[in-house]
Amino acid sequence: MGRVASVLPEPQVKPPRPLAAFRGSVLHFLSDPADGGASAVDFHPDGMLVVRDGRVAECGPADALVGKLPAGVPVTDYGGKLILPGFIDTHCHYAQTDIIASHGEQLLAWLEKYAFPAERRFADPTHAAEVAEFFCDELLQNGTTTALAFATVHPTSVDALFAAAARRRMRLIAGKVLMDRNCPEFLRDAPDGGYAASRTLIERWHGRERLLYAVTPRFAPTSTRLQMTVAGRLYAEHAGVYLQSHVAENEAEGAWVAELYPEARSYLDVYARYALLGPRTVFAHCIWLDDADRARMAAAGAAASFCPTSNLFLGSGLFDLERAHAMGLRVGIGTDVGGGTSFSLLQTLNEAYKVLQLRGQNLTGERAFYLATLGGARSLYLDAHIGNFETGKEADFVVLDPHATPLLARRMAHATTLGERLFAFMMLGDDRAVAATHVLGEPYRRPTLRG
Ligand SMILES: [Zn+2]
Repeated sequence: MGRVASVLPEPQVKPPRPLAAFRGSVLHFLSDPADGGASAVDFHPDGMLVVRDGRVAECGPADALVGKLPAGVPVTDYGGKLILPGFIDTHCHYAQTDIIASHGEQLLAWLEKYAFPAERRFADPTHAAEVAEFFCDELLQNGTTTALAFATVHPTSVDALFAAAARRRMRLIAGKVLMDRNCPEFLRDAPDGGYAASRTLIERWHGRERLLYAVTPRFAPTSTRLQMTVAGRLYAEHAGVYLQSHVAENEAEGAWVAELYPEARSYLDVYARYALLGPRTVFAHCIWLDDADRARMAAAGAAASFCPTSNLFLGSGLFDLERAHAMGLRVGIGTDVGGGTSFSLLQTLNEAYKVLQLRGQNLTGERAFYLATLGGARSLYLDAHIGNFETGKEADFVVLDPHATPLLARRMAHATTLGERLFAFMMLGDDRAVAATHVLGEPYRRPTLRG
């Protein structure tokens, strides 16, 4: 982190203050509104969030809490704005930041034409550090305080990303891509080399500050059977590590997997055969699954990352939230940057709503924001630490401004319920609607980039 970091602007996150309070409308979720209904939603129109040493001390109505504050405690006034737990992005690729919005292909051609050449550049630690800094800033600018991210096959790309997140005190889960076939030579590792490099990275980063490691086989087609076995070993050998991959994104991809692994019942079954399904395993897309697959994931404790902007942009298909929920599957929201087209979880929820409309399903504002906060935390098994404002949780939060744009202000003027206001935020909002992002209670200020 030393040499590269010294030439980059210093991110500005101060250490947590002993005690601080924030007043505004406060909203968080206690459970899934699809199950808990109104009791899932904890909303205080004039609310207060009290933070001690970076953790939630109290959350409730301001009139009940303001009198209890010791004299001299700073109260930040977010009057008229909405304070929510920080957004959680359960699937993204930091190395694809520079190829977001690349035209004209579906998944397999898109990888060849755009993703692989872009990822090649991450062999250079200076390039990796520069992109990692931008990526983390862009997450925070959009109100995202936790992400599960792919790096590239290069161990230096993982170091760069974790260093950038640590400098911002962010919660971040990431890992080195494992990929030993069906990809360009310049991005290929080997089962033993990938194993050793992953182990070193786990020892270096897993559990350090707020950082966690994810074993990262890109997807079944780019790993040999031996490498899939190695990925399972890495996941089994290290307590608390994650495993992230892709499954059932695109129909051509699914047909290819069936050719490569003819012994498997389904694409999902390939991962099961290599012991890659379990708690803290997160699979992006999960579009072309059947109920047997969904039940198997749910029973294993695996999570699906619903990536609507990517699924529409790459023409992949429509995620079935209703079936996932019915089968008890954990679901979080993912941007899938750069196959996805926005860093904004608000814009991602916008597209989620539209995907579900095409499925004949209905996503409410409350449910959408649950998925982007506590739903994501549950998917990542981090709900003991983040996802809502229960006492003791890490005080990562986002402040949304209903007057951020003229159009948003006009629409909000006619919104009478919380659900309507949330829906307007997700349909009309993006990073302009994010008035502030706080990490462990402290506001994050994006550094000024040089020339
Ligand atoms: Zn992806």
